[in-house]
Amino acid sequence: MGSVFEPAGQHGDVDAKLVAALERLSRVFQLLLRDAAREHGLSPIQAQFLVHLLFHDLELRRVGRLAREFDLTRATVSDAVGALERKGLVSREPWPGDGRVATLRLTPAGKALAGELSTWAEVIRERLEGTPAEEKEVVLRFLMGLIGSLQRAGVISVARMCVTCRFFRPDAHPGGDAPHHCALLDAPLAVADLRTDCPEHEPATAS
Ligand code: SF4
Repeated sequence: MGSVFEPAGQHGDVDAKLVAALERLSRVFQLLLRDAAREHGLSPIQAQFLVHLLFHDLELRRVGRLAREFDLTRATVSDAVGALERKGLVSREPWPGDGRVATLRLTPAGKALAGELSTWAEVIRERLEGTPAEEKEVVLRFLMGLIGSLQRAGVISVARMCVTCRFFRPDAHPGGDAPHHCALLDAPLAVADLRTDCPEHEPATAS
C-alpha cells in the first residue's frame, strides 16, 4: 500500500483521500490558531491553554492534567504555563483536594484575552452554515467514531465524547429522532446532542 500523500496512489482510494483531506484541514486549524496566537504575542499552545482554562472547571485546570489533555510532555506544559504566568495571564492556586497540586486560574487580563482567542475557529463554523443538518450529523457521527477509534488505539489520550463514554447507549431508541441514550442523565440523545467535550464523561474502558 502506497502513501496516502502520493496523488497517483489516491486515485479511486476514498480512505487515502479522506486522510489527505483531514490532513489539509489540520493544517488550516494550525494556521488559524498560529495567526490568532501571534496577534497577541503568544505561541499556539499558550493560546490553547488560555481557551481551555476559560471553559473548564478546576479539575481540568490542574497543571498535571494539561499534559494529558493536550498530549504534551510535562516540560512543554511547564514552559508554556511559566510564560503565561510571566505575562500576567494565569496564576497558580493550590488544588482544594491536595495542597501539593497546583491548579490554574485566569487573571482578569487572561480571561479577557481568552475570550478574544476563543473565536479563532469561527471562520470554519461559518463555512458550515449552508450545509444541510442531516449531512452535518453524518459527518459528526463519523468524526466522533474516528476520534474514538484513535483514542482506543492509543494515538490520543483524551476524548470526552459520548461515543467513548461508559454511560453512552447507542441506538437505544431505534427509529426515533433521538436514537441514543445517556444513562447518567437518563435522557435520549439526538445526533446533534452528542457531546464532544462532556464534563460528566467517564471512559468506557480504562485509557
Ligand atoms: S455522560 Fe456526557 S459523554 Fe457520557 S453519554 Fe452522557 S452526555 Fe455523553
